[in-house]
Amino acid sequence: MAPNYGGNSLTSQVRKQITVLSGKGGTGKTTFTGALAQLSSPIALLADCDVDAPNLHLLLNPINTSSERFFSGKLAVKDESKCTSCGTCLDLCRFDGISSDFEIDPFHCEGCGVCAWACPDKAIVLEVQASGTIYEAKTRFGPLIHARLDIGAENSGKLVSEVIQKSHDNAHHLQKELIIVDGSPGIGCPVIAALANASLVIIVVEPTSTAIHDMKRTIELVRFFKLPLAVVINKATINEDQRVNIIRFCEDEGITILGELPYIMDIYRAMVNRQTVIEYGIQGLKDPLKEIWLKISNILDLNRE
Ligand code: SF4
Ligand code: SF4
Repeated sequence: MAPNYGGNSLTSQVRKQITVLSGKGGTGKTTFTGALAQLSSPIALLADCDVDAPNLHLLLNPINTSSERFFSGKLAVKDESKCTSCGTCLDLCRFDGISSDFEIDPFHCEGCGVCAWACPDKAIVLEVQASGTIYEAKTRFGPLIHARLDIGAENSGKLVSEVIQKSHDNAHHLQKELIIVDGSPGIGCPVIAALANASLVIIVVEPTSTAIHDMKRTIELVRFFKLPLAVVINKATINEDQRVNIIRFCEDEGITILGELPYIMDIYRAMVNRQTVIEYGIQGLKDPLKEIWLKISNILDLNRE
């Protein structure tokens, strides 16, 4: 099951979390999340859980107020002064983590600990490794928790879990009613971690066959965790047949479509300007986005005062 960070306090129980997913990259998920961030201000705390390729900060231009290193996984580390080159570690490692001259290869070591256990001279120890950084930040729409995985580091699912945990802790402290999570594409560990505690999962889809295929996989995942879900059709005007396919599929599956957003080239100018599409004043997007936000507010019974 997706982990739960609800806690026991009344504030935790009242707080809602929207997790925005896309299945496939490039559907406009972060553009949509940025608009939601603006429309929800000041009741929401924002969380960028696309830790492999974070880009919500490009729109929100955050000012980091604190940072902390994230530690996960272990790596074998050798004390050269103790090594007698007996070769035991090379014989036992099943991950090509030891070179022919008995050096540890950090890119192959899986941290299983066999070499440390077997080394007759106690020359190897396992050390916990830093693999990313979590930031607390301020934005013009409210607080933001975001993170970055170190280059080549793994465990993005664990890092996302940390971001979600910190988001709930800070939302509790700051008395924010809502957390808006920008998830990553796909259906892997970081996506599952971003589903933790979601009150509503919104899948942003564009009318293309690959996006529809990936939307269906994401829906299967969300349904596995029995979470409420809804769909937004972005770039709805680029392919009428596929748009109709999405609508029919959602009707057949009983999935709410919150709204449709037309494809407008100026979206990219807004991104270059580091503005939301509403701030940039793109005609044709503001009203449908407001309608979508109103529907979300009603579904989640949010305070819109
Ligand atoms: S098992 Fe220990 S002593 Fe033997 S080669 Fe490996 S690190 Fe050196
Ligand atoms: S910890 Fe495991 S994977 Fe890493 S070098 Fe030692 S035996 Fe190989």
